[in-house]
Amino acid sequence: MGRKRSGRGLGPRLGRALVRSSALVWLLDLDNTLHDASAQIMPRINLAMTDYVSRRLGVDQAQASELRANYWRRYGATLLGMVRHHEVDAHEFLREVHPFPDMHRIVDRDHGLRDALRRLPGRKIVLTNGPNDYARAVLGRLGIAAQLDGLLAIESMQFAGRFLPKPSRSMLLKLLARLRVPASRCVLVEDSVANLRAARACRVRTVLVTGMARHGGSEPAGRIAGRGRQVGLQVQSAASLPRIVHKLV
Ligand SMILES: [Mg+2]
Repeated sequence: MGRKRSGRGLGPRLGRALVRSSALVWLLDLDNTLHDASAQIMPRINLAMTDYVSRRLGVDQAQASELRANYWRRYGATLLGMVRHHEVDAHEFLREVHPFPDMHRIVDRDHGLRDALRRLPGRKIVLTNGPNDYARAVLGRLGIAAQLDGLLAIESMQFAGRFLPKPSRSMLLKLLARLRVPASRCVLVEDSVANLRAARACRVRTVLVTGMARHGGSEPAGRIAGRGRQVGLQVQSAASLPRIVHKLV
C-alpha cells in the first residue's frame, strides 16, 4: 500500500479532494479490462467449456456449444447452469475450463498499468467472474499484484452455497456490506456494459473500459459505444484511470 495522503499543507479544496480520492474503493474487472483477453484467452476458455460440456453430458460439440451459450444468456455464466442442472463440481469445472500452463507466453508485463495503479488513490480490488488460480496467474504475469489490495474471484461470490457472479446486484450489495463501504465511494471499472448497469442500479460509480479487447470483447464494439453512454465515464484503458479521478470526487 502507498503512503496515505492527509491533504494537510495543501489548499483547502485540493486537500479535501485528495482525502476524498484516497477514500475511493476501485473494483477492477480483470479480463478485457486490465488486459486483453480477446485474442487467446477467451477463445480457449470457450473451447474448453464446450469440450467439458460435451464430455460431461455426452453430447456433440454443436449441442454443447448451444447449451453453453444458453446457460450464459440465462444465468450470466455457464458455470451456474452446469451446477444447477447437471450437478457439476464447480471447482473441477473452473479448473478444467481455464487451461493456461503457458500463461507466461500469452500475458505480457504491463509497466504502464503498474505505474498507473501505483498513482491511483484509494483501495484497489480485482473483482472477476474468473477463478482464483487463473486470476492470480494473470495478475502475476501483468506484474501488478503488489499494487492491489485484494482479489475477489468467483469463489468469493458464493452466498448460502449459491454462486452469484456479476452482474448480480444482490452479490454487489453483499460485497459492499462485507467491505463496509458505501456504494457512492465504490467505482466499478469494467468492459461489460451489463455489469456496469447493474452496479449503477446499486448506486456504485462506474467507468467503462472501451479499448482493451482488440479482437472483439463480450459485446460488439458498436453496441458498447452506444450503450456506453448509459454508464457514465469511459476510458480507453485502465492505465488512464488516474486522469479521471477528479471527476469522481
Ligand atoms: Mg471483462
